[in-house]
Amino acid sequence: VIEFRDVEKQFDTKTVLKELNFTIERGERVTLIGPSGSGKTTILRLVMTLEGLTDGYIYIDGAPLVYEQRDGKRVPVSKRQQKLLTTRIGMVFQQFNLFPNMTVLENIIEAPIHVLGINKRDAIDRAHQLLEKVGLPDKTDAHPTALSGGQQQRVAIARALAMDPEILLLDEVTSALDPEVVVDVLQVLRDVAATTDVTMLIVTHEMSFARDVSHRVMMLDGGKIIESADPETIFTNPAKERTKKFLAAVL
Ligand code: ATP
Repeated sequence: VIEFRDVEKQFDTKTVLKELNFTIERGERVTLIGPSGSGKTTILRLVMTLEGLTDGYIYIDGAPLVYEQRDGKRVPVSKRQQKLLTTRIGMVFQQFNLFPNMTVLENIIEAPIHVLGINKRDAIDRAHQLLEKVGLPDKTDAHPTALSGGQQQRVAIARALAMDPEILLLDEVTSALDPEVVVDVLQVLRDVAATTDVTMLIVTHEMSFARDVSHRVMMLDGGKIIESADPETIFTNPAKERTKKFLAAVL
């Protein structure tokens, strides 16, 4: 469902990702691990088209997301096609990024109504269901500023799910949270993983969560995937010295 082909990403003159190739299957949950600066967040931002692509191709369900090959040339895809594809992708950020001037309910129904064209009544019903699911049924009319970080993040998860995404990108969603609420947010995500077949691409420093929910873990170093395997293998018997060293430092 997500394919990176010979992806390269530079910021100014700095190459962050290089000749990156991988495929994520429909329904697969994949966690990216690796040292700080290895490019994990950049990969998610590329999928969300929040960053430009320096070279190579990204495909969503086989359709080119940023560039396509036409007559042997690399040409940009239309904005319309890009938007069509990113509508199927939800992202939850480290810093929640809720709309501060809207209530919780308004945050959740905004995109389903304006992007998907769902009628307001149905969007509201669905929002209530989702707030129930993330454990915040009584926060409908609250403003984000009145909520704790953990609660805001659970709203952000509900907002992403309201778009019924095929792909969910989770970018260090617990890194900005107090330790005691991290477990609540992870529980919500474990529940999403257990009850839906949404494809997930996850960046996290929570290794036990990664181990429990992922089908596969990819270890990134120096802008390349140096090892990709099931969590059991990665966490107990990694093939690469670099992976061993990284895990010894974080576990
Ligand atoms: P961390 O675990 O610390 O979040 P990461 O693996 O997610 O790290 P990225 O955030 O993807 O790493 O960053 C990869 C590299 O790209 C870093 O060296 C970072 O400084 C650089 N970088 C990221 N965004 C930008 C930007 N907008 N402009 C310039 N450099 C950037």
